[in-house]
Order: sequence, then C-alpha cells, then structure tokens
Amino acid sequence: MLMKTESDMTTAGPSDHDQGVPVSVKIRERIQAARHRFHSNDNIAGFIEPGELEQLLDEVTVKMQGVLDSMVIDTESDHNTGDTARRVAKMYLKEVFNGRYVHGPNITEFPNAEHLNELMIVGPITVRSACSHHFCPVIGKIWIGVMPNEHTNVIGLSKYARLAEWIMGRPQIQEEAVVQLADLIQEKTQPDGLAIVMEASHYCMAWRGVKDMDSKMINSVMRGVFLKDPNLRREFLSLIPR
Ligand SMILES: [Zn+2]
Repeated sequence: MLMKTESDMTTAGPSDHDQGVPVSVKIRERIQAARHRFHSNDNIAGFIEPGELEQLLDEVTVKMQGVLDSMVIDTESDHNTGDTARRVAKMYLKEVFNGRYVHGPNITEFPNAEHLNELMIVGPITVRSACSHHFCPVIGKIWIGVMPNEHTNVIGLSKYARLAEWIMGRPQIQEEAVVQLADLIQEKTQPDGLAIVMEASHYCMAWRGVKDMDSKMINSVMRGVFLKDPNLRREFLSLIPR
C-alpha cells in the first residue's frame, strides 16, 4: 500500500493521489471495506470498476514477467517466450479464471406453466476448471438432476451449462465447486430437490505428483427430496450414463 505524507496530500490532486497504487490494491480495499471474501473461487466482479480489468491485465503481465525472469528464462532473445507473460495474464483473467472477474450470466427464469413434477436430468456437461492448489487443469463432466414443483422456475437446458461455466471459471476445489453450483441453481430455480454429480480428472495428479493418468475424482451434492428419498436418489444415479 502506498503511504502519503500530510504535505503530499495537500499538494497532490486526486489523480496524482491515485498514481502508483496498483489497481489490485484498490479493488482489494473495496472488497475489504465491504467485508466480502475474496478467495480464489469467489466472484469479485461487483468490486471492479469499468476499465479496471484492462489495468489488472497490465499489472498481472508485469508480475508474470517477473516470474519468468526469476525462472531465469531469457524472454528477450527467446522468441517463444517473448509474449508469454502477456498471454498467461490474458489466459488467467479473460479466459480460464474469467468467472472471478465478470458478473454471472443473465438467466431468464420462467414460471413452471406446465406444472412439471418429474425428475429431469441435464448432462453430461463438460466442465473445465483448475485446482486452486496448483493451478493445474481440472476437466470433467457434471450431471444435474432437478425435481421441480409447481413453484419451480424453469430455465433453458443450455443455461445450466452457462451457470456451470461461470462457477468453474475460477481456481476451484471440486468439492466446493459443486456446492457453489448447487447454491446458484437452487437460488435461480427453487426446486424441491437438486442433485449434482461431478467426475473430473485432476492434472495435478497426472502431470505432477503421483503421475497417475487414470484417476478421477467423483463427488456429489444432494439437496431436498434427493436427500430424503433414497429411491429418487437411486433413480437419478442409475440414469446418469457413467
Ligand atoms: Zn492440485
């Protein structure tokens, strides 16, 4: 954080005062003032002002260049890594972790006019994320089971994929990711029951660590009637083609 003396404050105009304060510090201060969490899998879009994501991109580029320098990579004469810092910064902020920095997709909910009350299953939806421990890819599939009631809002099938993409587009922990997705779908649609199963390969176990190419992690969240009714749970699990 930048400290200013009293005399600096009186002579400096408002834009001068801002100079030198990294945009990440300004965003962080807003989040802390609002007492919000900013873990790797939290969305912070509400604290980023227009134009600041571009400034954040410049800031991360400089820091990534520092990482490459510290790894003793000659990015000046190596034509392959000359632009790597910028590419990685862009990949993190605009692509793979974009779900932290942008607002959620606009989902139109419709009333359940047909009074649908049968088990509905969506999937497999391909999901791409990265683990917050190593920033290594986590790639897999999810299945979503919804048990609607007459008050449940209906959303289009493709919307489930868009909600999943937004949640997974952050450095994640699989167990937390499925809970975040369940909370979001629960809030948007208010069903009687909600079930999510996620099966994913964690590249931190394939590329490094135990170097096991075949291991997958499977986990699930069951809410409402899926929790209370073992038959419904069994029906859902038997219908998802794994
Ligand atoms: Zn990992």
